[in-house]
Amino acid sequence: MKNAIKILHLEDNHTDAILVHSILESAKIQFEYFLADNEETFHSYLKNQKIDIILSDYHLPDYRGNEALIWVKNYYPRLPFIFVSGTMGEEAAIESLINGATDYVLKNNLERLGSAVNRAIREAKELQARLEAEKQVLKLSRAVEQSPNSILITDSDGNIEYANLNTLTTTGYSSNELIGNNPRIFSSGETSKEEYARLWSTIKSGYIWRGEFLNKKKNGELYWENASISPLMDSKDKIINYLAIKTDITEYKKLTSDLIASKEKAEESDRLKTSFLNNISHEIRTPMNAIVGFSEFLTEPELLPEKRKEYAEIVIQSSKQLLSIITDIIEIAEIEAGQDKVHLTVFELNETLSLMVEQFQLKAEKQNILFTLKPAVPGEAIIVNSDQTKLIQILNNLIINALKFTKHGRISFGYSIKDNNIEFFVQDTGIGIAADMHDEIFKRFRQVESSLARRFGGSGLGLSIAKAYVNLLGGTIWLESEPGKGTCFYFTIPYNKAPERSVPEINPDTSLQIETELPKTLLIAEDEDSNFMLLKAMLSAYKINILRAVNGIQAVEICRNNKIDLVLMDIKMPLMDGYEATKQIRGFLPELHVIAQTAYSTNTDKEKIFAAGCNDYIGKPLSKEILVSKIKVQLEKS
Ligand code: ADP
Repeated sequence: MKNAIKILHLEDNHTDAILVHSILESAKIQFEYFLADNEETFHSYLKNQKIDIILSDYHLPDYRGNEALIWVKNYYPRLPFIFVSGTMGEEAAIESLINGATDYVLKNNLERLGSAVNRAIREAKELQARLEAEKQVLKLSRAVEQSPNSILITDSDGNIEYANLNTLTTTGYSSNELIGNNPRIFSSGETSKEEYARLWSTIKSGYIWRGEFLNKKKNGELYWENASISPLMDSKDKIINYLAIKTDITEYKKLTSDLIASKEKAEESDRLKTSFLNNISHEIRTPMNAIVGFSEFLTEPELLPEKRKEYAEIVIQSSKQLLSIITDIIEIAEIEAGQDKVHLTVFELNETLSLMVEQFQLKAEKQNILFTLKPAVPGEAIIVNSDQTKLIQILNNLIINALKFTKHGRISFGYSIKDNNIEFFVQDTGIGIAADMHDEIFKRFRQVESSLARRFGGSGLGLSIAKAYVNLLGGTIWLESEPGKGTCFYFTIPYNKAPERSVPEINPDTSLQIETELPKTLLIAEDEDSNFMLLKAMLSAYKINILRAVNGIQAVEICRNNKIDLVLMDIKMPLMDGYEATKQIRGFLPELHVIAQTAYSTNTDKEKIFAAGCNDYIGKPLSKEILVSKIKVQLEKS
């Protein structure tokens, strides 16, 4: 019998036992019946059977019903216990109820037994279910209270009704401070009104909102939370509460942003390194190209004396350029290694600056630029105790840049004495620098234009060297600049006044001429004059007409308007690089032969050269033999 209840009957009188058994049967109770007529059997049944209810006589020969009751209540407190007795008086009945009996049925009223048993079983089951439910509720509330997440329950208007322990420890508020308050107590003002509106409309419509908050603790400290907020419904699907489960993700956020920052830094330095290698490679190969090429010519005995002089000057100029790049790299390496020391010497400032004017005057004149020195105290001796070499180097770097980035107008430099500092300036009317680059350009290898089409040479080291030196000398460097209007760099060094002596007068000024060539059937696209001259010289013995383009746009135009047989295309050119120019030329002259000539020589560069549509390439420094043989091959094909 599957649903039968197990009844243990403590009764010494067998006739009474049979009577009780038959009354239970007639009450249609499904049961298994166990009869015990002494204490030992009684205990043994309780131990070995899962008894559901006990019926007990009150008086037994050597065991009392009350004793049995007390023992049962001790060991099986929720087991229903009904006295079934003919001799039990009212007093004993009341005492038994006090001792925990469920009921009592007198033998002269045995027809009540069925309903008494049924009721006792039902009540026992209900009690059991209630206890189970309470246990479950306790378990859930412990889980919520002790959860490692912050859990918040609000009423349907959003007022906090419950906050678990984690909420209190995370936010620093006490339960009293939170209950009845609105969760906006945590708001840092970082989450927009629109986001809150979205949140409310989501949860009011019965959906879950998930997102992140930057919240504020009681002590003002900010912290990040990942939250999911959902409505709690009653049995009629009416929203009665909202439940927020939140995780503190401050550490995670910090870690993520640190990781992103270091990834960006790594990518940035990788980019800078690549761009540095490309630039350095180009900056070194360009003068090398001229040195190697023109030196070869210098060995030719039939070279005319004036050409020999011109080529020798190019070799010398290119060697100086090369040396200055190598010096820059070495200087940076020394600064980086912390090996650079200040060597103090006493020198006269106006004299030093006048010598610099002489150094740059010629170049400025060639560029048609007015170059002036504006000393603060002309004619007076300004004796300075500083590192003269480093000061000259700083000014050199700034003036070289000013000359490089100024096409026309003026460059002036000088200083003024302010308290215990000398404030230098180098001002130009050049291309200027956008405000967002004012800090950037002092970083190593940083250039405003870093693409292949950049119009100006340079390694991107000059300003970082200048800045490092200014700092070493105990000063600061900054600039004022506006794109299109010009730039003024300032820097200070400490000044300790010393005895005076006279200085020479300073006299600036200038002018310059740009050379052009007339084009014919071989187009040389090349922005560097020395490289172009070298190519022209290399090809001078051959019957080839030469045209020149100084940038990619010109190269395309010349090809469009002239009959060209072959193009020698430089890759790094201003305005439009050689890749783009070749692609555009291919658009209207698919058969034209193009040989790239480049100082960029990695495998990727070569792939890009062919992908752009070049037929061949020749690397710099150029070799006359290779150049001539490659030109011959291409001309024979055309
Ligand atoms: P480099 O001149 O070799 O590129 P620098 O460190 O000297 O390197 O300068 C970094 C960049 O700052 C330059 O590439 C250029 O973009 C910008 N810059 C420096 N000086 C000037 C200036 N006087 N006018 C305009 N831009 C300048």
